[in-house]
Amino acid sequence: MRWMACLVLLLGSTAHADWQRSHWDVMGTRATLEFWRDAPVANHHGIDPVEQAIRDEFARINQLLSPWIAESELAQVNARAAQQPVEISPEFMQLLQRSKYYYRLTNGAFDVSFAGAGALYDYRAAQQPDDAALARARACLGFDFVRLEQDSVRFTCNAVRIDLGGIAKGYAIDRAVSLLREHGISHAYISLGGDSYVLGDRQGRPWQVGIRHPRDAEAVAMRVPVSDIAVSTSGDYERFFIANGERIHHIINPSTGKSSKGLVSVTILAPQGIDADALSTSVFVLGKDRGLELVNRLDNVSAIIIDDTGSVYYSDDLVSADEAGAR
Ligand code: AMP
Ligand code: MG
Repeated sequence: MRWMACLVLLLGSTAHADWQRSHWDVMGTRATLEFWRDAPVANHHGIDPVEQAIRDEFARINQLLSPWIAESELAQVNARAAQQPVEISPEFMQLLQRSKYYYRLTNGAFDVSFAGAGALYDYRAAQQPDDAALARARACLGFDFVRLEQDSVRFTCNAVRIDLGGIAKGYAIDRAVSLLREHGISHAYISLGGDSYVLGDRQGRPWQVGIRHPRDAEAVAMRVPVSDIAVSTSGDYERFFIANGERIHHIINPSTGKSSKGLVSVTILAPQGIDADALSTSVFVLGKDRGLELVNRLDNVSAIIIDDTGSVYYSDDLVSADEAGAR
């Protein structure tokens, strides 16, 4: 043990203050981490302890929430909650309560039970349900069929299925930010696919977060200068296939069970990742008018929306900031 401590100190003393950068695949997407260390340190795998803590945390959240891991809490709930109440951890309950909050706030546009229909799509195999299968799934679609008790969850319709893909990455980002702070890091960028957080600034300037061009994976549609904020983008380009000229993608309008139409990209800025994530998915489904109306009602939340004609729309706070800047 003492030997390891010496090794860490030794590595720390020979390295220089610098930005530490890394990428890895987790939770079905790519994680990117960049942070500033005055005196870099590494564990016996050559990995900075804060990066190791974040890697471990993302892996733990994946084990908890992955629909593809049969033992995950989420998969267990999906397998059993239609037959009996299933006891769940406080952490999973907190995520379900937050999901319920957004279900109500968005009049059902954000609905983790979208999965009853969503699970019938296979984007890699370019498969979608026929009308009869979709109609059967829609009969049990809606968070009203998910009953939350003190420490258990119960489905009140047989075919209910939940998936936290619209909120889990934002939650994981918040956990990463807590770990960065606990390790004394005050300048960092962390992202999981389209969900990110920028901590502090970058050498005295704000971070520039790029919003991907929705139709050109290599291009950036715009850059937003930000610090100490979560930035989440939902786009119809993440998982999709084209059938008869129509884009079939992974953000489902719960009222139809089909891909949401009208918008191609929604970026939300908010103090917490969990809210930015849930709201980017929500506004994507609500559409430009109802989405902007919702965001303009919320404190400390901003939106940048791109519709299917390429037009860009901003929440009121960004429009006034822009006008003030132009004066
Ligand atoms: P995001 O990229 O954050 O918008 O998340 C998209 C993911 O959210 C999808 O892959 C689904 O797992 C999930 N999702 C799709 N439609 C909905 C919906 N209407 N409400 C909540 N989650 C959804
Ligand atoms: Mg989201």
